[in-house]
Amino acid sequence: MGFLKWIVRVFGFNKNSAYQKKYLNETNIRTAAYMAFVVLILELWMIIRYVHKRPGRTFLEYFDGETNYLILFSAALVIIIFSLRYTDYIKSRTLAIVTHSAVLALDLAMLTRFVWVSVKEGEGVVLIWDIKYLLILFTLSLMALLSELLFFSKNKKNDIYGQVLNVLFALICLGFGIETSLYDISKGRQILCFMTMILFAACTLIWKPYVSLLMMGATFMYFYSLWYPHLLELDLANEGRVLEGDKINFFMLWIVIDIISISIYNQRVMEAEKDEDLIDANKELERVAVEDDLTGIRNLFYFNQEAEKILKDPSVDISEKIFLFLNVENFKTYNDQFGYQAGNEYLTSLALLICDAYQGDLVARQSDDHFVVLTDIKNAQEKSELIRSHVRGAESEVYLELKVGAFRPVDRETDPRVAIDCARYACSLTKNKFGKNYLEYNDDVDSEFHKRQYIVNHIDRAVQNGYIKVYYQPVVWSDSKELCGCEALARWIDPTYGFLSPGAFIPVLEEYRQIHKLDACIFEQVCRDMRESMDAGQKIVPVSLNFSRLDFELMDAVGLLESLIEKYDIPKDYLHVEITESALTDNIGILSESIKRIKQDGFAMWLDDFGAGYSSFNVLKDYDFDVMKIDMQFLKNFESNEKSPVILDAIIKLADSIGMLSLTEGVETEEAAEFLNKAGCGRLQGYLFGKPMPLDELKEKIADNTYRVSAKLI
Ligand code: C2E
Ligand code: MG
Ligand code: MG
Repeated sequence: MGFLKWIVRVFGFNKNSAYQKKYLNETNIRTAAYMAFVVLILELWMIIRYVHKRPGRTFLEYFDGETNYLILFSAALVIIIFSLRYTDYIKSRTLAIVTHSAVLALDLAMLTRFVWVSVKEGEGVVLIWDIKYLLILFTLSLMALLSELLFFSKNKKNDIYGQVLNVLFALICLGFGIETSLYDISKGRQILCFMTMILFAACTLIWKPYVSLLMMGATFMYFYSLWYPHLLELDLANEGRVLEGDKINFFMLWIVIDIISISIYNQRVMEAEKDEDLIDANKELERVAVEDDLTGIRNLFYFNQEAEKILKDPSVDISEKIFLFLNVENFKTYNDQFGYQAGNEYLTSLALLICDAYQGDLVARQSDDHFVVLTDIKNAQEKSELIRSHVRGAESEVYLELKVGAFRPVDRETDPRVAIDCARYACSLTKNKFGKNYLEYNDDVDSEFHKRQYIVNHIDRAVQNGYIKVYYQPVVWSDSKELCGCEALARWIDPTYGFLSPGAFIPVLEEYRQIHKLDACIFEQVCRDMRESMDAGQKIVPVSLNFSRLDFELMDAVGLLESLIEKYDIPKDYLHVEITESALTDNIGILSESIKRIKQDGFAMWLDDFGAGYSSFNVLKDYDFDVMKIDMQFLKNFESNEKSPVILDAIIKLADSIGMLSLTEGVETEEAAEFLNKAGCGRLQGYLFGKPMPLDELKEKIADNTYRVSAKLI
């Protein structure tokens, strides 16, 4: 079976792919052009020599005779022009038509003269065999002319025509080789002409080996049958010593030529296969480059490119266009609940739904559950509502919501990346806002957006120029109300924007992964403040520092803490590390290692905003915190909501029962403070005891006894 397959392949019986066919045709036709060029020059030289030797004839008289130089010359000319047109080297159609027609006319003239001379000389009948080369040339030039008229004008190529032309050309070459060599033999010369022509033909026929082998075989056999009587004669004259050797050489030549054509053919097929693989790989790369691998719709790269083209297109009225950013809210919970596979399937069906709703528009998946669209302003929102109703209507226990941000391009130069950023920002402003599902970027949004950009671009300068300040908020013992610590809270006092509170810059810095710069600056300021107070002989209280979960990814946060207490020589128990509960919910990786190291180093770990997140109790189970900071939302409507005290009471007891101390944030009223004290919450923090303030103010308040520093600080 393997051998049979090999035979089929090697001799070209198999079916080639369309690309391989094209490749073989083109190389064949190109080779034919080279060969024809050599023949053309050779025949031209022969014609000049011949005419020079026999002056005084009329033009056609020179070319009487069956195998004349003009036939081969004309055939070569047609093949060259055809090949150059096929391979697009020659653009002029007229040149090709004129050449082919001229050859056709010349051929007809030679035919007519041949017939006329035969009749005149009294032979009467003209045998087809006698005019075979003129007939082949007729077919050759006619087909070349037809290919020009029928195909090339329509930018089409007919490969069969190319192959037939090559076969016809090879036939003329072989015929001439045979006849010239027979003539040479009769004069006692070599069969060199036959050998040259057979090589020519072999080279132009490499497209299906079995075809060329058949043609070569027939030619060799035919020639041998004509040559044999001469060989025999020669053999007799030389006492039988010629025949054997010449026979062997002749058949060896045949075999070698066959092997050469087979090997060239196979080489070409291999090249074509390699090329084809490369082309396939390239196509795949192109596809991957513009396709989103999860959903199969376009990706952002493609979107940006195409959006740019649309905006630049003068026929597009950009005042009617709008960029949309679509975000599925709460999708993370969907993933948690049903697993990634189901999540992926959901996103894929949603992608198709969006494409359907915005049919004919540019739609792509940006990342995660975010999609982008460039569409007409008209109906943009209505269509998004349609998608939204589907998202909301999906039968599932998870509440999903579709939020859309929109941005109108300012002019044709609008960068789609910026447009998407703006739309995304508008979308982010609808986050967690019930009933607000579609927001277009407007002047208010614009100034907010610029503020964010400003924050990201100026964090380094703010740190260097001291615009980042530490404010301290007092923490008191709930029984004595004496000061037992402070929380360090960042403030950005900016020359352009004025006073910025953390709500404005912390989420932005986290989103752009710059938060560690701010935190490193705060940690250092706190330590420096402590050292200065100690040096001035003033009392100090422990300070809790807010760590972002990103601090552990973006810098060696624990290493920084260790080096700071060494540099400023600060007792370890005067610094507490606060990490918000939401930082610990998923995929915490590096964070859990860091928490262990902080504990080992001897710092107290405080769990911030307990109860604000989704998985508060898991966090308690998985980590060892020293103090639980109960989120201030439990104190909201403390007086009016009768459940609040019950819940707070339970949380405080829970903390106690697992060996944690507790602190309640956001204490604003005496009633709440009193209740918390009774419930057993050790520490309190809130506006009732003081807002976050600069260090000087805190010191003044300690000095004027607004705050009494507790003797017990830890
Ligand atoms: P947090 O760590 O939970 O800080 C407590 C926040 O509650 C502070 O807001 C504080 O001013 C506010 N607060 C305290 N008592 C009361 C009260 O009685 N009523 C009300 N309504 N609010 C009260 P702030 O300073 O705006 O900080 C907000 C959040 O920003 C902080 O929440 C913290 O998560 C983050 N943050 C602040 N400074 C930094 C910092 O230096 N680094 C990092 N990573 N985050 C910081
Ligand atoms: Mg905090
Ligand atoms: Mg807090």
